[in-house]
Formats: sequence, C-alpha cells, structure tokens
Amino acid sequence: MMVPTERALHEAIQVAPLDLPDDVKRQKIENLLAQMRLSGATARKIQKVFLSEMNKGIHQQDSSLQMENTYIPELPDGTEEGLFLALDLGGTNFRVLLLELVHGVIVREDVKKYHIDAHLRVGSGIPLFEYLAECVSDFVISEGLQDVELALGFTFSFPMIQHSLDVGILVTWTKSFNCPDVVGKDCVALLEEALERRGDTRVKVVAVLNDTTGTLLQGATQDPETAIGLILGTGSNACYLERADKVEHWEPERHGEREVIIDIEWGAFGDNGVLDFIKTDFDRQNDANSLLVSSFTFEKYISGKYLGEVVRCILVKLSKDGLLFTRETPESLLIPGNFLTDYISLIEQDTVDGGSTNAKEVLSKFNIIPDEDDLKIIQYVCEVASNRAALLVSICVATLLDHMKREEVTIAVDGSLYKHHPRLQSWMKQYISLLTPARKFKLMPTQDGSGKGAAIVAAIALRLKKRLESAK
Ligand code: ADP
Ligand code: MG
Repeated sequence: MMVPTERALHEAIQVAPLDLPDDVKRQKIENLLAQMRLSGATARKIQKVFLSEMNKGIHQQDSSLQMENTYIPELPDGTEEGLFLALDLGGTNFRVLLLELVHGVIVREDVKKYHIDAHLRVGSGIPLFEYLAECVSDFVISEGLQDVELALGFTFSFPMIQHSLDVGILVTWTKSFNCPDVVGKDCVALLEEALERRGDTRVKVVAVLNDTTGTLLQGATQDPETAIGLILGTGSNACYLERADKVEHWEPERHGEREVIIDIEWGAFGDNGVLDFIKTDFDRQNDANSLLVSSFTFEKYISGKYLGEVVRCILVKLSKDGLLFTRETPESLLIPGNFLTDYISLIEQDTVDGGSTNAKEVLSKFNIIPDEDDLKIIQYVCEVASNRAALLVSICVATLLDHMKREEVTIAVDGSLYKHHPRLQSWMKQYISLLTPARKFKLMPTQDGSGKGAAIVAAIALRLKKRLESAK
C-alpha cells in the first residue's frame, strides 16, 4: 500500500464540520474546539515523541514511559494444565478465581467477587492485605481445596517495578486506593506473608502481573499472532512482546530468553511535559479536577475515567460563553465527574443512527431541555473528544507496530470504553492503517484478561520453574 501523503492523512483524521444555521455561532464554537483537533503533522510529531520515549525507557534513561520488564518470556503454548488461582485487584471488581486449564484452554472457571470497604482502601496496607488473604482463604475453603497446593497468579493493576516474575514493587497507588506504607513494597511478599499468618491454605503466589499483560496472554490463547495487549477501560495501558536482547533492565540470571513482555505503562506518557504541545484548556481543567494532578497525562486524554470530564469542561465553557443552552448552565453540569463517559457512547450512538433520542435523555439527567442547536453542538463535542482519543491511541499503536516490525500482529483489547463506544473500533482500525499502511494487524476484543490471564501466567511460571530445575 502507498504511504498516504501528509495531506491525505490530515484530511482523513478530521471530523465533519459542525452543521449550524447560524454561521457566526458555528465559527465561534469551531474556533474554541480547534485546540482539540490534531493535524496530520501533529500526529506525526506525537509518533516521534512516543518512539523516543519508548527507546529512552527501554534504555533506562529518563522517560515518561516506564517500559517495565514483566519477566514473562513466553506465551502460552497449549501445554498449560491444571488448577490455578487468580486474584484480581485494581479493576472495577475485586475477585478470586479458580481456573482449570486443559491443553492451554480454560475449561472451568469459578469466580467470587468480594467487596473492599472504603476504610481498607486507604490508611495502612496491613489490614488491606490481611483482607485479601482472608478472601483467598474463604474462596479456597469454599472450594474444598484447603489441603491442595495451588499456584496463584496475582493481577495487581497498579504501576509497579518488577524484579522478577514474582516480585512487584508498588510505584504508586491509583484509582480509589491509597495506602502509603505499601508504596515501595513488594505486593507479592505482602500477600504471601498475610497468607502465611493465616496458615489455613496451601496457596503459593507464583507470579504478579497487571490487567494489560493478562489481556495479551489471554489473547494469545485465542490467536497465536497476539503480540500486543491493550486496555481502554477506566484507565489505559498497553504491553507488547519485545526482543529480549533489547531489554537492559533484567535482574535475575538470563536463561536464553528470546522475547519478553514489556509493560509500557503509557497512561503516564507525557507526565514529563513531552506532550504539552497538544494540551488544551479543557485538558488543564480536567487535570486540575482529578485526584492525581499532573500525572497520568495520556490517560486523561483517552480513558473512560476522564473522557466524560473533558466533554463536561467543554460544555461548561460553551454554555458560559452563551453558545450552548439558552438559560444558565445547570448546577449539576458544573460538578466535576458528573458527565460520564457512558453518556458519550450514548450520544455517539445518535450520531451513528442519525437521531437525537439518547442526547435528549442524557441532557434530561441535567434538567436540560435542549433546542436543535444544542443537540447538534453536544453531538459535535462528543465526536471531537472521542475522535481525538481514538486518534491518540492509534498513533501509539501504529508507532508500536512499526517498532516491533512483525509480519502480522493481533492486538488483544479489553475495557468497557473500547467495547461500548460505538465508533472507537472503526476509527482505530482506519487510523492505524493510515499511519502505518505496511503493517498487518488485527484488533481482537478479549474478555477478562485480568482473571484468565493470571491463571495462564501462573501456569507459565510453573513451566519455567520445572524447566530450570530439570536443567540443573
Ligand atoms: P476496569 O477498567 O475498571 O477494569 P472496565 O473495563 O469495565 O473496568 O471499564 C470501566 C470504565 O469504562 C468505566 O469507568 C467507564 O469510564 C467506562 N465505561 C463504562 N461503560 C461505558 C460505555 N458504555 N461507554 C464508554 N465508556 C464506558
Ligand atoms: Mg479491567
């Protein structure tokens, strides 16, 4: 395929102009939103910056990309067998799972969700880990497996530094957790110690991973070309298969590994200022209204936790400037966090269907009775914000594909934003192809990487251990 000219790229990534009868009003709105629209040249610049940050991260130089070694040196090969436990912390639900693998395929899955009280999520980490251990033991005993030696894969979806497959040092809490005394500690050791103090099961934590890595592994059981894991849910992150010889941070002895999964931790892309050239007034407000100010820059442009807030900031500005809603800005729209990303999906569905039923319903939650212009403007704002998110993710994925130089790559994707947004998938397919026309890729929706992936990595960990022992 021919590489598109910069002009073709630029044209393809633009959204349709706002269609309003009043030309002056239309112009004013488009001018305000111009900062949200990326040009083809800017897209290329972001590609360069992302590649440079990846290279710096891999070479252990200062970078906003952690490029963390997961120490997972191979994908499932179809020989994985047995019963495994998984513990999933850091997603919407905290869960314990028992999974049975036969020939690398999950044939049985028992799951129990547990509630983590708000008071356990903050303060000292000891009660939190005691509670995690209590849940594991409750689950194992309810399965009647207390006397069976069970390997557990721990999905800990927070930024961590790994020293090996079963050591994960917490870098910082995110989401709704904040137990300061755990920062800098090994989450595996904390869990193992809590399990040992109980002493009522024979569970051994053999691996730690995050949801992104789990998604890649789960994807690999469905499609052997899977080499990227991508999350677009509350947060966003990606991981990929890297050549092992390129990876400098490798603490335990190497054993001839050819590949290894690298966790990019791209939510923090730009935290060092390298992405400031795309930051808009709305992004600055979104950041100021967030729990973790000045961090997770990239995530704030694209993920479910923040996209609705970007839209809210724009709507408030338009309303205050007299360009949207005839009466005063409704109180409830002024409250940060009140415009959910789910609403964007609903309103984008209208754009796809050519109606405005959903937009009216969303606005009724804010006691707004919109006129025709309001509806068009809101649909336009949702489109512009969603489109920018799709483009930014595509830019990074395309850059990653170029960097990996594989014949063919399947990208395993999980997360509610990706699943439910009605236009994200097709934009991403189109933009990635445009940005890197020579690369063959497939976007594959993947379910529950944070649960199933943990069992798979536990199985891989046992296989590696056996191989090492028999080599001795
Ligand atoms: P998690 O990321 O916590 O593991 P999910 O992948 O289910 O869980 O993502 C949940 C997030 O996805 C929510 O916080 C919300 O921001 C976003 N989300 C949920 N439903 C939708 C939807 N219909 N459209 C867009 N985003 C959604
Ligand atoms: Mg998830």
